[in-house]
Amino acid sequence: MIKALTFDLDDTLWDIWPVVERAEALLHDWLASRYPRIPQQFTALELRDLSAEVIAARPDLAHDRTWSRKAALQLAAQRAGYAEFDVEGAFEVFYRARNTIEPFAEVRPALERLARRYVLASLSNGNADLRLIGLDDLFSMSLNAIDVGTAKPEPLMFEAASRLLQLRPDQIVHVGDHPEHDVWGGQQAGFHTVWVNRTGRDWPGGPRAEAEISDLTELEAVLAAWEASLSSQA
Ligand SMILES: [Mg+2]
Repeated sequence: MIKALTFDLDDTLWDIWPVVERAEALLHDWLASRYPRIPQQFTALELRDLSAEVIAARPDLAHDRTWSRKAALQLAAQRAGYAEFDVEGAFEVFYRARNTIEPFAEVRPALERLARRYVLASLSNGNADLRLIGLDDLFSMSLNAIDVGTAKPEPLMFEAASRLLQLRPDQIVHVGDHPEHDVWGGQQAGFHTVWVNRTGRDWPGGPRAEAEISDLTELEAVLAAWEASLSSQA
């Protein structure tokens, strides 16, 4: 029987790109008031490109988006000629805005109902903080790539979840939007998988998830059908 559900966060429970763009814009304003040569020299998009540059130099830290944001800011300050730079203060501006998130409308009610029947956990490659977002009461465990040391689709995060939940992979359903990180990664780890396809994308190829849903309300129906077929086989 299914005992636990693990959820991807960004683009599964909320739209992340509008949030990131807003956070980058707020950070840009903060920099303009304190370190004006940085925004004079770099647009918000160019600052984002610096993250790619620092990751290229340290691919072993690519999974840690907090590190790459801070390293990119530090590099920007250096190139703009600031010997002293408050990287923690700058990151805090970004991070607070990055966690000012409105989940999709059905998310909290659906998770509340699911949490009565299943253990819920989150498995994210990003650095969202469920406490700041206000969903932490629904999840018994949250893992991200920074905690684990590698990102999905690598098996480590799935293996850690299975171990910490004290469940076999086939007792867990992973639910996420990313065909490779969530569906393929979950399958490789032996989890059941559900693809969250909110925007009607075509499946890009490879083995499909066991179910495809357009929102979490549909997940309840999928799980009910699986439970019914499992109990009729028993
Ligand atoms: Mg995602």
